[in-house]
Amino acid sequence: MRVTLVLNASFEPLSTVTMNRAVVLVLQDKAVVEESHPALRVRAAAVDLPVPRVIRLCRYVRVPFRRRAPWSRRGVLVRDQHRCAYCGRRATTVDHVVPRSAGGADSWLNTVASCAEDNHRKANRTPEEAGMALLREPFEPTPADAMLLALGRAERGALPEWLAAPAA
Ligand SMILES: [Zn+2]
Repeated sequence: MRVTLVLNASFEPLSTVTMNRAVVLVLQDKAVVEESHPALRVRAAAVDLPVPRVIRLCRYVRVPFRRRAPWSRRGVLVRDQHRCAYCGRRATTVDHVVPRSAGGADSWLNTVASCAEDNHRKANRTPEEAGMALLREPFEPTPADAMLLALGRAERGALPEWLAAPAA
């Protein structure tokens, strides 16, 4: 299902909604379209408008708490832009910095994108034990990054540049 990114009135990413919900918010004047699909259109009885990719709420919504980004393997690969944390080449796997066999958690701070070779070479060792240095420290994505991760790669690639880059 196609999703639309919702920005707060302050332009901060807030959530994602279905395309239909986004259209309703726009038609009810609760949101304005910030970015729309160049080719696709929504057509219904009295509606003919480009598919919104990003909408922005007209009124600022106070967010009572910041949701943390849930950890996922896919999320780690996206966060690390599919680059291996050990050699910088294309990564297809997720490595646990502290191995799971040593109690390492499935968490943002304990996992990095890794190429299959390096993942295999490091095996059940810490980077120090394996003599393999991390090119960068793992970090926890902000909730805003999590929204962008939730959008999926194809949609995110189509977003305006100021929105598409996860804060590293
Ligand atoms: Zn590698």
